Amino acid sequence: MTKVVLLTTAEKTITDLQAKKVADDKAVAEKAAADKTAAEQAAAQAAAEKQAAATHATTQQVASSDTQSTTVYITKTGKKYHLAGCQSLSKSQIPISLADAKSKGYTACENCDPPQ
Ligand SMILES: [Zn+2]
Repeated sequence: MTKVVLLTTAEKTITDLQAKKVADDKAVAEKAAADKTAAEQAAAQAAAEKQAAATHATTQQVASSDTQSTTVYITKTGKKYHLAGCQSLSKSQIPISLADAKSKGYTACENCDPPQ
């Protein structure tokens, strides 16, 4: 009887250990999957941030060169700036850089649609 009990106890212990091992394996697998997902998310985020930084830098550079190098035209009396050839420039046509026009409070003409 004692032997049977011992055997049963041993079997139970083995069963518990096996169950624990299965649980451990599952936990390890889940952790590995979680780590992998986290790593992938981190990599994706890093790539997105890098992309955003590159896009931002490009946008700034383009915007800067546009406003500095683009010439638009204002009139003596108007509050709009225009592209060359706009019919609103028939009375006067004063060349000015886009950056200056904007800094002086001029806004884009709705007819000739100059760069903003
Ligand atoms: Zn215009």
